[in-house]
Amino acid sequence: MNGKTAIITGSTSGIGLAIARQLASQGCRIVINGLGPEEEIEALRRQVADEYQIDVLYSKADMSRPDQIAAMVATAADTFGSVDILVNNAGVQHVAPIDDFPPEKWDAIIAINLSAVFHTIRTALPHMKAAKWGRIINIASAHGLVASPYKSAYVAAKHGILGLTKTVALEVAEQGITCNAICPGYVKTPMVEGQIADQAKSRGISTEAVVRDVLLAAQPTKEFVKLDQISKLTAFLAGDAAASITGTAIPIDGGWTAQ
Ligand code: NAD
Repeated sequence: MNGKTAIITGSTSGIGLAIARQLASQGCRIVINGLGPEEEIEALRRQVADEYQIDVLYSKADMSRPDQIAAMVATAADTFGSVDILVNNAGVQHVAPIDDFPPEKWDAIIAINLSAVFHTIRTALPHMKAAKWGRIINIASAHGLVASPYKSAYVAAKHGILGLTKTVALEVAEQGITCNAICPGYVKTPMVEGQIADQAKSRGISTEAVVRDVLLAAQPTKEFVKLDQISKLTAFLAGDAAASITGTAIPIDGGWTAQ
């Protein structure tokens, strides 16, 4: 993967940052993206570049803004000369019963978790087609395959990602480009830390009870999925050995969706 350009959306934290580090360690030039204090992100950008001796560009594109998404992809192509690997990872969550679900939260989750994936793909594909090579990896969720209560927008968006993944895979199947989705179970990241608190409120139970009886109750292994397990699966899908894997939704969920 030496010298390939990888854009990873939502990579200032959690799963996206682990994927950015993994692809950097394999010689990719990296575009990191996400929200947060600019000085902290600049320190992170420099640290990843220095540690792996590769070029790292930061894009502050807001994934709810199609114009900013298009600008991010154009800047990546102008700076590095190609867009080879696209990892759609940015995501947000809101947990509430559907009849209390704020419409603006629905709109934001659909925009960031689903429509952004359409916009990155639509703008990155011409670069991949020109190179006759590309890898699109969408970080969906076990919630792309099954539902849980109080997560209507998130579950709808993640199911939508799987449909989009299959469609894109079929459209570009003869052009050296693959498109797959990864469906993680629970991973302990800032997003899940937030959900633990929200679920405790919605269900009227303690945070310890949420971890034991709600989150890990769904995962037969009774363990959180680890960041490096997801980042290494992503790197495998980005490699040449995965050229025949396309249009799939791969669970990495401790057995959750086997039930
Ligand atoms: P996280 O909160 O740690 O990271 C989310 C990232 O997205 C951050 O970098 C944040 O800045 C970025 N982001 C949020 N809104 C954005 C916006 N409008 N524009 C640009 N960037 C934005 O979360 P995470 O747990 O690492 O989640 C990453 C992805 O993995 C999400 O798509 C999530 O749905 C998915 N996922 C997470 C879990 C889990 O248990 N943590 C399980 C399955 C799937």
